[in-house]
Amino acid sequence: MAEQPRVLVTGASRGIGRAVALRLAAGGYAVAGCHSGPSDAARRTEAEVRALGVPCHFGTCDVSDHRAVDRFVREAEDRIGPLGMLVNNAGISKDDPLVLSTAADWDRTLATNLTGTRNLCRAVVFRLLKQRGGAVVNMSSVAGVQGNAGQTAYAASKAGIIGLSKSLAKEVAPHGVRVNVVAPGFIETDMTGVLGEKLRAKALDRIPLARFGTPEDVAELVEFLLSDRASYITGQVFHVDGGIAL
Ligand code: NAD
Repeated sequence: MAEQPRVLVTGASRGIGRAVALRLAAGGYAVAGCHSGPSDAARRTEAEVRALGVPCHFGTCDVSDHRAVDRFVREAEDRIGPLGMLVNNAGISKDDPLVLSTAADWDRTLATNLTGTRNLCRAVVFRLLKQRGGAVVNMSSVAGVQGNAGQTAYAASKAGIIGLSKSLAKEVAPHGVRVNVVAPGFIETDMTGVLGEKLRAKALDRIPLARFGTPEDVAELVEFLLSDRASYITGQVFHVDGGIAL
């Protein structure tokens, strides 16, 4: 029988990360999930993953803090066994035109989205290399591909994730490790829940498939990219965006 796959998902408490954690658990993965702090959402997601009958470890870990990340990865492996896969999904956005934005918001956005992705890749990919196999999916955004007015920090962090992922994919491919990027468009989560009616309507106008995506739309692709069905795919950026980037 094939060994049970084990994955670490960041930002697993809610939204896209929650859907990914549940989807992978339903597919038989042991799941470690981290988030920015205890919440009802985090407790609910952890309970739902556990109810699927797979080994599970959930906890708080600030992805921007590399020492906390190293600690969490060790803890996760103690609880569910050696990790074979990683989904870097944790992210924040604080939107403002550049001329009105603060240096603190820039630093926090880059530290969470880009440095966080780096910290997790640094901690987990080292282990995958030793195992001579594994897969990573990093969450970017259409904003990181095309840019978006009001999102200079967010878009820079998400474009950075693409550069990081393509470079890492080249470094680790000879060792059997794959790295891909998912770039969602507008997905129904708390992150987009803050958009007012006017902005939502404007966004909908730009989406050829005429709806916001669901977290499950994204989770479907993440599961595929982690699986052996994607064994010849690395260093690529995949849009799940209803065609908005066309
Ligand atoms: P969300 O705000 O609903 O959830 C974010 C998750 O990240 C939460 O679990 C939160 O606890 C965690 N998190 C935030 N800061 C953290 C930190 N410092 N350390 C650890 N965990 C932290 O977001 P979402 O809409 O589900 O988005 C998930 C990812 O998808 C993000 O990277 C986001 O940029 C990206 N994305 C989302 C959309 C969208 O429309 N929702 C579009 C494109 C890309």
